[in-house]
Parts: sequence; C-alpha cells; structure tokens
Amino acid sequence: MPTGACGINCDVCKLNLLGTCSSCGPGTSPLAEQKLATQQRLLGGTCAILACAQLNRVEYCLRDCAQFACDNFSQGPYPFSRGYLQMQNRRRRQNPPAFAPDKSPVEVPSQFWDELQSKDLNTLCNWTLFRLVSAHQVVFHFLNEEVLMDVAEGCLKRDNGRGWEKTQDPLLELVTVIYLNNVKKLHPLGREIVGVKDLKEAHFFQGPHILQTDPLLQRYGQDISGFEDAARFLEGRPVDMADAAYELFPFPRVPLYFLFWQGDKEFEPRISVLFDRSIEAVFSADAIWGLVNRVSTALLQGPTG
Ligand code: SF4
Ligand code: SF4
Repeated sequence: MPTGACGINCDVCKLNLLGTCSSCGPGTSPLAEQKLATQQRLLGGTCAILACAQLNRVEYCLRDCAQFACDNFSQGPYPFSRGYLQMQNRRRRQNPPAFAPDKSPVEVPSQFWDELQSKDLNTLCNWTLFRLVSAHQVVFHFLNEEVLMDVAEGCLKRDNGRGWEKTQDPLLELVTVIYLNNVKKLHPLGREIVGVKDLKEAHFFQGPHILQTDPLLQRYGQDISGFEDAARFLEGRPVDMADAAYELFPFPRVPLYFLFWQGDKEFEPRISVLFDRSIEAVFSADAIWGLVNRVSTALLQGPTG
C-alpha cells in the first residue's frame, strides 16, 4: 500500500521510482515500521505524523483519526499547506451532501411540508416522542443531538449555542417529514427485529438501492474499536448480536441496528443493518434506504471535537 499515513501517495512520486525515498505506508503497516526505523537511523529522528499514526494504530490520518488536523499537521513543516488544512477543517464541519439513488441531490417536495402543516403536532409528538416547543415547532433527538423542526418555515434547525439556526441537512429533513406524515399511531417496539430481506418491500434493496455499507467497511473494516467509538459517540446501545453491534436511534421510536463482523483469513469483514418490524408502518423502502444512509454518514463522520 503506497499511501503514507499522512495521505501522500508515494506511488506517484519520482523519488520513490528512483529509489531515493521509500513509501511510508499506512500507520498500521510493516512499511511504516520500516520507514520509521530508517528515518531514525539516517536522520536521528522520525516523522511526527508517521510515528503518531503508528503509536495510535491509525491507518490514515485524514480518514481515520478524529484529531485531524492535529498540531502535527498545523504546526509541523510537512506535508500540507495552511490553506489545505483550513479547507479540510471547514468542510468537515459541514453536513455532507445527500444524493438519491439516481445521484440527484435530495430535495423535500413542498407538498410534503404542506401536508405536515395540516397535522396536529401535539398528537404526532405523543406517537413519536418528539417534543412540542411552540405551535409550529417540534424538537427531536437525532442520534446524539437535538434537532428542531420548524413546520411553519419548512426547515430543520440546530442550536448554534446562541439559538436555533436553520441547518442544511436535506436527507434528515426528508425522512423526518415523511415520518411525521406517515405515523398514524404509537407503534410498539421490540416485537420482531428483521433484515432487509424480511421486509415486505425487500425487492427494492437491490442494484442502486442496496444499503450503502461499503464506505463503512472502508473506514472501519480493519478498525472495530473505531466503529465502537463512533457508535457510542452517537449514543448507540451495545447489543449482543455480532462482534460489535449497536442499536442507534435516529428518532426516539425508530431504532436501527448496525452489526459488525470482523474479517478473518476466510471471510471479509461485514456490516449489516437490522430494523424493528414497526419501521414498515412509517417508512416506505426508499425512505428506509435514506434513513440508513443518513445514519451511516453520521457513523462515518465519527467522534468530533
Ligand atoms: S509527512 Fe511523514 S508520513 Fe507523510 S510522507 Fe512524509 S514522512 Fe511519510
Ligand atoms: S493525532 Fe494527528 S498525526 Fe496522530 S494519527 Fe491523528 S491526525 Fe495523524
């Protein structure tokens, strides 16, 4: 693997072709160990980034470390410019873009909001454990944070420390509006836990609609403790279902179960998502697909701050 822990790809460097410089490799690799030993021998010291990544069992700083961009990057001489690090810090604070299966940007149709405006929010709160905070506003707990839905303005808001501020989170906005438009009663939880193949619309979850667990495997496939850290950060409850498994709550009465199996010599690592059977009463298959994507994105973002 030619990419160093810092993200520099040694495979495309002439110094590597000439044999002047060897690859650093990911922080968990034998290459990293060799490079650190060589640096110590030839230079009398080691790259702080590579040494830190190796010590902390981090493959790639930009992908795998919650501390990025740490002082080793911002204060050290290598390898990125201040402008690049500022861009990384700024964009990591933004919600990632949301796309439908056909790759078009997710938007909430205005008629969905119109329908919601005709509903009795107080009753919806009783069925969903959302909280009514004014005539047209409800607050709900999404994973590990409070989010306000302003039904009059047709948007979601997050608390920026000074008050509620409009937030761009189209996938969360879409599934929340769909949820409140569809819920018709309080659905008991815990009667049956099912996978996509057990859902009535199981046929939907194929081809472009397959659940998007590959990015989670890229990030956590070799890092079960990173997966557990992210799930705990999102207030997931551990459940005894796989090598690591957590019940996560995108809405107070809608649990999702993320199950992680570590790989071995025979099998690749695997991630599955299970549902409470009641999810079918409030979400169609495409909304379940969107909800799983939004929670997967939160797991990928991992612990912050
Ligand atoms: S900054 Fe460190 S980890 Fe990155 S290529 Fe240079 S020596 Fe390797
Ligand atoms: S603390 Fe910094 S150098 Fe160390 S692994 Fe994380 S990002 Fe890399």
